[in-house]
Amino acid sequence: MLSQDSGSSARAKSEPETTQVTPILAGCPPTTCTNCGKPDCDCQAPRQPGLVLDPFMGTGTTARVARRLGRDSIGIDLTREHFIAPTRADREAA
Ligand SMILES: [Zn+2]
Repeated sequence: MLSQDSGSSARAKSEPETTQVTPILAGCPPTTCTNCGKPDCDCQAPRQPGLVLDPFMGTGTTARVARRLGRDSIGIDLTREHFIAPTRADREAA
């Protein structure tokens, strides 16, 4: 098990966005049904973007790539400083 300090410093550096594209495309459908949650169904219900969960959000690289690929995302991280960083970066980019 990693200590909090070693985990924080290891995750402080963001990964290249290209490393996130293939796992997101392979593991998350572009859209899901708002009624049953399945990517393919006969519900005729409206569609919603696929949802990416990143339980080790770090600087938010996966969330940014997910958004660029049309998916929604939920990110969780142990440290508050990492949680704030992608929000600030997104505001500056907008
Ligand atoms: Zn459905």
